[in-house]
Amino acid sequence: MGSSGRTCLRLAASATAVALVVGSAAAADARGGPRLEPRTHFTMAADGSSGATTKGAGIPNIDSVKSTIRTYYNATDGIADKASSPYITEMNAIEDAARQSLRSTYDDAVANGETPAIVFDADDSTLWTYDMEDGAMKFNFDPILQNEWVQDERFPATPGMVDFVADAADIGYEIFGITGRRNAQEPATIGNLEKVGYTEFDAANFYTKWDGPDSNRPAYVHCQAACTTVEYKAYTRAHIEHEGYDIVLNVGDQWSDLQGGHADEVLKLPNPTYYLPSPDLPRMNEPRLTPRTRFTMEPDGSSGRTEGGEGIPNIDSVKSTIRTYYNATDGIADKRHSPYISEMKALAARWAPKVRHTCAQLKSHHQRPAIVLDADDTTLWTYDMEDGAMKFNFDPALQDEWVQDQRFPATPAMDRVVRAARNHGCRIVGLTGRNDNQRHATIANLNKWYDGAFKSRLYFTKWTGEGTSQQPSYIHCAAAKCTTIEYKSQTRKHIEKDLHLRIVANFGDQFSDLIGGHADRQVKLPNPTYYLP
Ligand SMILES: [Mg+2]
Repeated sequence: MGSSGRTCLRLAASATAVALVVGSAAAADARGGPRLEPRTHFTMAADGSSGATTKGAGIPNIDSVKSTIRTYYNATDGIADKASSPYITEMNAIEDAARQSLRSTYDDAVANGETPAIVFDADDSTLWTYDMEDGAMKFNFDPILQNEWVQDERFPATPGMVDFVADAADIGYEIFGITGRRNAQEPATIGNLEKVGYTEFDAANFYTKWDGPDSNRPAYVHCQAACTTVEYKAYTRAHIEHEGYDIVLNVGDQWSDLQGGHADEVLKLPNPTYYLPSPDLPRMNEPRLTPRTRFTMEPDGSSGRTEGGEGIPNIDSVKSTIRTYYNATDGIADKRHSPYISEMKALAARWAPKVRHTCAQLKSHHQRPAIVLDADDTTLWTYDMEDGAMKFNFDPALQDEWVQDQRFPATPAMDRVVRAARNHGCRIVGLTGRNDNQRHATIANLNKWYDGAFKSRLYFTKWTGEGTSQQPSYIHCAAAKCTTIEYKSQTRKHIEKDLHLRIVANFGDQFSDLIGGHADRQVKLPNPTYYLP
């Protein structure tokens, strides 16, 4: 009795669920369901640890971070605008505010019998590395390339800083430089500073870091173990103070330039293009001198005009957050355990039963149900290519190699969703932005993992425009070049209207996979590693 009662309840629940699914079909093309747009508010710790606790959607997408940075620097092809940008405006405002008190601070110090001094960092405090970091390195630091730029004295001055240093020197301040650049780079660094207009730095007031092992360090630098940046810089400032100067201001773009004391005030300059963390000195705790953790970022890069440098997620922190999320080592994702895999497993556990149920019910109602799945990062997993091979800089030639070699593993747990659909009456439809030349290899790659579920007849790749690979007659685009949304939504319309399939769910890792209707449900998979608007 109890048992049959439970069965009745389950059947009743099933009938309701079918009614809900069928009822939503009419609304599907009016874009019902979840909001299909990226999140714009993020909480991210600088050290990457947030990747262990947040979902993928809560990690700032690295492509959006790059475009936000490029907006901030008004950069084109990796080269910062040297005349005007939000960065230049912010630097000038910071310098103007600091300039206000230079005279009175100097007078007060002298009245107290002190010899006031200001300390400046080099990279992105007095010399501007943007064109190297973006244009030459694509935000992947390369010490060999850096040494070439240093020795060739290729850096312009940071905006406004030549005048700021000159103003301070005119007032009477002693000027010092402290940089993490090495002693072997000192002549070229001072040469570069002179070349761009600084007249205050010379071998006597400029500190570079010792070459080789820490045993070469000056005696005044005390290190607990391997010398940290904060130990090197703070003890060098202590040494300057010991020589008789009062450091009233310490100017740097990294928090590790500023921690460790030995300066009356600090001046933090914006720099979202890299992050050089260092433990603070033993027993020092300076919460004021730590990076922001909350960010507002639109996906299209426009926040670079409005947020200020500290409000842009630092790209190194974003990368380490992504690598924590994928539990990646040397660019290779952990294939067994990671926050990403856990999220994908939970997603599959939620959607496999829904798909199974809906496919079975529609099949029993003599409909022709189907699910649609994107390829990259929906059914095939590109992480190792995106990070390990490309360092998050998309390279179409390298991508084609990976595609033709069928090198992608399956995205975690998606085999469970595909199996549930296929075994309960749904057709499996593939729809990818990969092109017709990649079609054979893509289907072969999929069938390594999905047990032959993807059939050529129901697999849609994009035309190349060459030979027989031409735009289908069922696709009409506003401009000569179709957008991803036009291509994918009109292909889904074709699948529904011409092939008479009922798309019960559409799975994709990009919002452009999902926007445009022609599916009862849209399922967004996490992917902070690139953004295809
Ligand atoms: Mg610096």
